[in-house]
Amino acid sequence: MKVGIMGGTFDPIHNGHLATAEAVKDALALDTVLFIPSARPPHKRGKKIADAEHRLAMTILATCSHPDFHVSTVEILRTGPSYAVDTIDTLKQTFPSETQFFFILGADAALELSTWHNAQELVDKCRFVIATRQGTEFDMRLVERDFRAESREHLIRVETPALEISSTDIREKIRRGNSIRYLVPEPVEQYIRKECLYLDC
Ligand code: ATP
Ligand code: MG
Repeated sequence: MKVGIMGGTFDPIHNGHLATAEAVKDALALDTVLFIPSARPPHKRGKKIADAEHRLAMTILATCSHPDFHVSTVEILRTGPSYAVDTIDTLKQTFPSETQFFFILGADAALELSTWHNAQELVDKCRFVIATRQGTEFDMRLVERDFRAESREHLIRVETPALEISSTDIREKIRRGNSIRYLVPEPVEQYIRKECLYLDC
């Protein structure tokens, strides 16, 4: 069993996250992708983010029509900071021992991987898929150089279609009253409107 993990703040989840997960799933023949909204992202301390309940609801709405996409509450239900290394340990306890985990990261997040809590231990525990934009250069040595040579085979690059979408841009569009159609799944947009999210951020 090959399980992809798409972690994020998902504030809100958008089509860039979904298209990337789908492209990586296809490229590596993953059986399933687990979307894991983070509770208190260590790198976003001090920034205003939507309640975990809202981010979880949007993540479920965005993924529920895909038969192989699932949502995990492992980080939201855990107390204390959200560290990926703890998440992997928890998932390893709940899946059969032969399961391979593939942690999917955008190139921006991959460049910060070495700053994550217990990064070397984490890279030894699971594979990392660095989703880079099709047709653009990306120097994997920028990621590899921070890790021991033996663990570098756990760092995999997959080219995915470039979708110029970010949650920051979506929040900004909502605040300005601009359209977010085609940037997020329709049920996510409906939820954002119904709950009046991001109007004042
Ligand atoms: P923000 O603008 O608030 O930082 P974001 O759009 O970057 O939000 P995150 O929840 O921070 O979304 O990202 C979760 C993961 O998804 C990260 O690994 C990030 O690199 C990746 N990601 C985000 N946007 C895209 C995109 N358009 N294409 C591919 N990967 C993406
Ligand atoms: Mg981001």
